[in-house]
Amino acid sequence: MATKNLNLKDIKLLVLDVDGVLTDGRLYFSARGEEMKVFDARDGAGIKYLLRAGVDCAFLTGREGSVALARARELGVKHVIGGAKEKEPVLRGLLESMKLAPAQAAFVGDDLVDLPPMRIAGWSACPADAAAEVREAAAYVASAAGGHGAVREIIEHLLKEQGRWAEIMARYRPQ
Ligand SMILES: [Mg+2]
Repeated sequence: MATKNLNLKDIKLLVLDVDGVLTDGRLYFSARGEEMKVFDARDGAGIKYLLRAGVDCAFLTGREGSVALARARELGVKHVIGGAKEKEPVLRGLLESMKLAPAQAAFVGDDLVDLPPMRIAGWSACPADAAAEVREAAAYVASAAGGHGAVREIIEHLLKEQGRWAEIMARYRPQ
């Protein structure tokens, strides 16, 4: 997959697994069974830059998605799919509904269940601490771990390759 010859300018949608990608993969439960997750603020800022650059974003998780949904709402991510046991058909369905080809999507995952959607996506990436087989399959391996800035790093890489990073930075330069 690393040899796939793709122009990253074609990427119109970044699909993110949640546990182990947007989080460190640990699951916190209260005595009442309420689930909590810890997200990285810089990943969140990265997602806002991505959306501002006109690249759409989706969260796709195998678990029930209410915590992911809350985080997505905060960031303006409109596509959140939870309970996706088989991620490849779910990704295909999402792409169909958005009228996008698989080559226009990038997928970020950390575990074996993410290999099928990574395989059909035009581009793929993973955190530094992803499963060995996922690191092997990914076109880009972040130096940061899941929940610790991997998504931010992947988004910066994508936007830089697309030639969009300068316009993101322009907003923060002195006038
Ligand atoms: Mg995961």
